[in-house]
Amino acid sequence: MKKLLVCMSILTLVATSCREKAPVAVAEGEFTWVVESFDDIRILRYKVPGFEELSLNDKLFVYYMSQAAICGRDIIFDQNCRLNLPVRRTLESIYTAYQGDKTSEQWLAFEKYLKKVWFANGIHHHYSSDKFVPDFTEEYFDELLAAVPTAATDQIDEVRRVIFDPAYMPVRTNQTDGQDLLQTSAMNYYEGVTQAEAEAFYAAMGSADDPTPPSYGLNSKLVRENGQLVEKTWKVGGMYSPALENIVGWLEKAAGVANPTQREYLESLISYYRSGDLREFDRFNIMWVEDTVSNTDFVNGFTEVYGDPLGYKASWESVVNFKDEVATKRTEIISANAQWFEDNSPINPAFKKEEVKGVSAKVITAAMLGGDCYPATPIGINLPNANWIRAQHGSKSVTIQNITDAYVEGAKGNGFGEEFILRAEDRELLKKWGGLADNLHTDMHECLGHGSGKLAPGVRGDELKNYGSVLEETRADLFALYFMGDPKMVELGLMETLDVAWAEYYKYMLNGLMTQLMRVAPGKNIEEAHMRNRALIANWCYERGAADNVIERVVENGKTYFVINDNEKLRALFGELLTEVQRIKSEGDFAACQALVERYAIKVDPVLHQEVLDRNARLGIPPYSGFVNPTYTLVTGDNGEPVDVTVGYTDGYAEQMLNYSGNFSFLPSKN
Ligand code: ZN
Repeated sequence: MKKLLVCMSILTLVATSCREKAPVAVAEGEFTWVVESFDDIRILRYKVPGFEELSLNDKLFVYYMSQAAICGRDIIFDQNCRLNLPVRRTLESIYTAYQGDKTSEQWLAFEKYLKKVWFANGIHHHYSSDKFVPDFTEEYFDELLAAVPTAATDQIDEVRRVIFDPAYMPVRTNQTDGQDLLQTSAMNYYEGVTQAEAEAFYAAMGSADDPTPPSYGLNSKLVRENGQLVEKTWKVGGMYSPALENIVGWLEKAAGVANPTQREYLESLISYYRSGDLREFDRFNIMWVEDTVSNTDFVNGFTEVYGDPLGYKASWESVVNFKDEVATKRTEIISANAQWFEDNSPINPAFKKEEVKGVSAKVITAAMLGGDCYPATPIGINLPNANWIRAQHGSKSVTIQNITDAYVEGAKGNGFGEEFILRAEDRELLKKWGGLADNLHTDMHECLGHGSGKLAPGVRGDELKNYGSVLEETRADLFALYFMGDPKMVELGLMETLDVAWAEYYKYMLNGLMTQLMRVAPGKNIEEAHMRNRALIANWCYERGAADNVIERVVENGKTYFVINDNEKLRALFGELLTEVQRIKSEGDFAACQALVERYAIKVDPVLHQEVLDRNARLGIPPYSGFVNPTYTLVTGDNGEPVDVTVGYTDGYAEQMLNYSGNFSFLPSKN
């Protein structure tokens, strides 16, 4: 996985008193984190701190790249399903022109459906990929069509069928083994092609001994024409040309204000959009990944292949961003002191690295989200994807801090703290330090945890087999947890007080012992590696510290809570477990690894599990979140020259969607 997806159970763990679910009207100049909620979705807003302080050139670069980011929206709709654009346009025409009763249950169901289509960039759920089931009737839809005759297009029969016939295009991206994944998926990356044909088509491309193979199939739709399989390439003059021409137009403006390094690879990207040549895309990626100094940065292109069941074809996406100087300093301090942490680690000296190099991951501020990164977005990105480029030129790993911050802020007031945290002082602790604690834990885990320690002579590293990834995540988390409670953190200026560590300890244990179970279906075990590793650490420490009552299980009014009675002792337990986990890894001790994981990481207490599910259901916290973008306005001087760019946060959800559909929609309904 190249995308780091947000872990709900961590980021919802912030408490305040008020609860707010209704749509929030935004007054001029007033900032609200939560825009509105519908179905299983919550729409948030993110801030772009530091934008005002950027140089004029950087502001203009962000502005031009932002416009390019919005211009690709139609592409992702069409990629997800060939009927998405006609469906969206039909619904929007009704939504904006209908003059009848807008308070009826049927209308509200219609509106909710449209909001879901906007969110998913189509008619299939963004996460599960299952088609939406409308809560309004086909008769009502026909009533609306009759009232707004302009909404009906020449594709109206197919539009009606795909909305109301559950058997028609039921899944966007089918991953079920044993079926023809192309014939059973609604995505629009192939047409009239079987899975076997597509696989044979791409297997025949290139040669096995090409050390720098292009990502064959990445930027095209595979179709049958006159009995032959042909690729319809997404390029200027090819498929999706009207959108790509607009994107290129903005990229050219951005190149005009970019620094020389950035200009060179922007020109390469433009050339690739014009030619469709995947080797040019690789040249772009190499220059892009090697630029670690530019203040502004971006993703713009056909990038991730999750939407293609065969994994060849990339969805279009964009993230425009600039460096978060303050947060990047944090990761620089951590990396610069990597040797100190290694030397002071509690593990057996035989398994310590004599020379350790911290990994410096960049922390960024997102300024605009587009395509497949909008409105649902990752909190971290690691690109490029081509393996040979990663091996020879490295990759860029970024954490998008203002998005993480928005999740934390948006979770305030959702009632989670009151429901699951017993003591008021713990709620206060998390409210005050929870955000910083999250970020520091991630920094320590990424910059130090994974890179620490070494294998014993003769150990290859693959001895732990299917338990290897859980143990590795456990090791990185324990390294972070152990050192977060070290006074060195305060000395280095990474935190003002160890309360930040204690906030992390509380949050981590609560999550691992209990609240992460809300993401596990009833009757199931814990499957996901990060969830297993949290359960392992939490359950092991709970059991090991029982004699000293380090972590106490309290039941009040039939509700289960956990409280930490001694943070220093808990820290010592983290150190003890880290020592053992490092030994297992260094020695490749499969039996010990298996025993540890099987005993602590997988099994779920069914009674506690059901209790967590019930309590969370009562809170009604939507499991998925996405964002509206800020708006940017170009300010010009007397002679029309750009003098500034201002940022605003007033767009509502429907307002922004309609604006994008009205002003940034370039593709025909049939592509
Ligand atoms: Zn990790």
